[in-house]
Amino acid sequence: MNIHEYQGKQVLKEIGAPVSPGIAIFDASEAKAAAEELGGPLWVVKSQIHAGGRGKGKFIEETAGEQGGVRLARSVDEVVTFAEQMLGSTLVTEQTSDEGKVVNRLYIEHGSDIETELYLSIIINRDTSRVSFIASTEGGMDIEAVAHDTPEKVINFDVDPATGFQPHHGRTLAKALGLSGQLAKQAGKLGKTLYNGFLAKDMAMLEINPLIVNGDGNLHCLDAKISFDENALFRHPDVVAMKDETESDPKEVEAQKYDLSYVALDGNIGCMVNGAGLAMSTMDIIKLYGAEPANFLDVGGGATKENIVAAFKILTSDDKVEGILINIFGGIMKCDIIAQGAVDAVKEVGLEVPLVVRLEGTNVEAGKAIIDNSGLNVISADDLDDAAKKIVAAVGG
Ligand code: GDP
Ligand code: MG
Repeated sequence: MNIHEYQGKQVLKEIGAPVSPGIAIFDASEAKAAAEELGGPLWVVKSQIHAGGRGKGKFIEETAGEQGGVRLARSVDEVVTFAEQMLGSTLVTEQTSDEGKVVNRLYIEHGSDIETELYLSIIINRDTSRVSFIASTEGGMDIEAVAHDTPEKVINFDVDPATGFQPHHGRTLAKALGLSGQLAKQAGKLGKTLYNGFLAKDMAMLEINPLIVNGDGNLHCLDAKISFDENALFRHPDVVAMKDETESDPKEVEAQKYDLSYVALDGNIGCMVNGAGLAMSTMDIIKLYGAEPANFLDVGGGATKENIVAAFKILTSDDKVEGILINIFGGIMKCDIIAQGAVDAVKEVGLEVPLVVRLEGTNVEAGKAIIDNSGLNVISADDLDDAAKKIVAAVGG
């Protein structure tokens, strides 16, 4: 789960990392009071969207002005002008699609003087099963280019969970950031603070780009990108409360309400499957026969008829879906429940695309009977291979 920069900075502040004072606003009418409260002489007006590269981004609307999604303002009036221009406008960055994202929130921050821009991030390294630091002296806006052109400038090290963040990690980090003396000490302290915060909050990723040495000669976090491990959200209601649903695919939001594991993809075959493993193999076999899945959807082992109806509605509401494949292996899940759910859903929302159903396992005969007697135009399949061939043929693939 991703959060906005201003929320990330709240988290950083909470765990004890240095950030600037700032105020998030949702409406341009709040800009003046926010700017006055923060005080000058320099403010930063920052678009809050779940995408990076905002500084170099461009707004689609001419009314939003020439500058990008992160702007330095030198008066209260200028903050207000920027807020009026940016709020409600659409920002396109390297990390958004060409359609861009509408800016619904702004973060107005006390502006910092920048001596040096550095890069620091923490991720979970799946190869080593450890929390891993990535640091570079080349912070700012183009870390991807730095990693590509001069990989030696990007330093990577793991932290052993048994020892936690040790003083030697601090020294490695300071060296990677090109810092010495007092600043090296600060880097060690910051590394430890962030490592502990990363674990305590069950983060999946934390990126500070840029981490700066400010005009006072101190380390300071100027940007914050945080994502959290979704499987640990149950123990962090404060994190869940930060969720901005307007940033998610509405189909994914709907799926979460019904405890369905759903991920939207780019293909044209909608899949309804029980069990993540079977869902993966269903996607693979669709690809094997030359088509692309429109989604990953695991209805789970304990799905009720209501969940199945909801899942079906999510699939049929997707314009990209030109055919649907239901592939169920009835173990805990009973085939007749799925069949009844699918039939009910079709009766409720209609069916304008071909539907292939493959059922196997518990109550399979009852399930098949429900579908056969429903009068619906369903293509039944005997096994996974047959099902994939039939749906790919049905969408003309
Ligand atoms: P991003 O482009 O989405 O990564 O947004 P950032 O928050 O990283 O901001 C982009 C750039 O704006 C930074 O790399 C800085 O160069 C600049 N910037 C952001 N905040 C400040 C600030 O307080 N003072 C100054 N002088 N520049 C800033
Ligand atoms: Mg940045």
